[in-house]
Amino acid sequence: MKTVGIIGGGQLGLMIAEQARELGVCTVSLDPAPDAPAFRVCDDHIVAAYDDAAALEELCRRSDVVTYEFENVPGEILIPLCEKYNIPQGYKPLYDSQDRLREKTNARDHGLRTPGFAAVDDEASLRAAVKELGLPAVLKTRMLGYDGHGQLVLKTEADIERALPLLAVPCILEEFVRFDSEASVVMVADEEQVVSFPVGRNIHRDGILDLCIVPAEADPLVLERMKCASERFMRDCGYRGILAIEYFIKGDEFYFNEMAPRPHNSGHYTIEGSTTNQFRELVRYLVGERLQEPQLVAPTVMKNILGQDLEAAEKVAAENREGVYVHLYGKTESRPKRKMGHITFVGMTAGEYAENWAAKFV
Ligand code: AMP
Repeated sequence: MKTVGIIGGGQLGLMIAEQARELGVCTVSLDPAPDAPAFRVCDDHIVAAYDDAAALEELCRRSDVVTYEFENVPGEILIPLCEKYNIPQGYKPLYDSQDRLREKTNARDHGLRTPGFAAVDDEASLRAAVKELGLPAVLKTRMLGYDGHGQLVLKTEADIERALPLLAVPCILEEFVRFDSEASVVMVADEEQVVSFPVGRNIHRDGILDLCIVPAEADPLVLERMKCASERFMRDCGYRGILAIEYFIKGDEFYFNEMAPRPHNSGHYTIEGSTTNQFRELVRYLVGERLQEPQLVAPTVMKNILGQDLEAAEKVAAENREGVYVHLYGKTESRPKRKMGHITFVGMTAGEYAENWAAKFV
């Protein structure tokens, strides 16, 4: 029996481990939190910091193949491990995505359209970038940003003063895209093929994914171009394993926003809404099984459950309705805005969700 090592024990690690188990694959996960969600399902675990080189090496030793669900593993630790152990996705996709400036430059260099952007390090470069890109614009920290953290929308010149405290760390200024919708493409690639999952429309609230609606309500031709461009990008960059790319759609154009070389929140619906799912195909890739082409089972809506929605989600779970799948990650501490679970409604349209379900949640 093969063992997959997972750097990170959050909900993504948990769902990788669940699918691995179904495929008869063992898992071992490393996470700094002793109560990490994935530990409940993994066959083995290691409690250690992500920069604990000896612990990461131990994880590699206990595994036949290693993947990551945590994006900020430091390169100086991962690179030597990649040389010694089987970490087939390598450090490159992490490196390319860990810095928003490098990420957008890489996307543009490989043929994907991005919003206009400029590096910002101080007040002078911020003012120059505002002059070049115009307002409104979005200022983001280059590193360690997620779910809208470390971002500020600048609407008028007066906002520049307000933005100065963010410049304690390197930043990027981006043109503000007045998009019609957001969507993401999740792909898994091996040496021979790239498979991609049906594209969903992503609706964010306060910078955090709230709903994913599949199929995405957007021009099918634009979605097909987006899927093809994403698959070409993944091949051109030489990435293997899993990659998710988030886009803004505006008219018949789509703009690269960001990417993640790990399972993606917008792909959670695939567990029940698709014939195969993002976690399972990642495991198949890792253990060298042939990838399967996913098909949408039925129109599907995925609702993220944040701390404030946990009680409502528990009620929905107790109802045990057909086509309604409640995933609670078992995090011991619930906080508003913390991702505590998700619910997948298979065989439901966005309209039906809005009419019958939306009001149940905060
Ligand atoms: P991010 O962390 O970059 O994914 O940003 C979180 C959310 O903020 C995105 O999903 C968008 O809803 C919004 N956002 C980020 N960048 C831009 C942009 N350049 N133009 C318009 N909206 C943006």
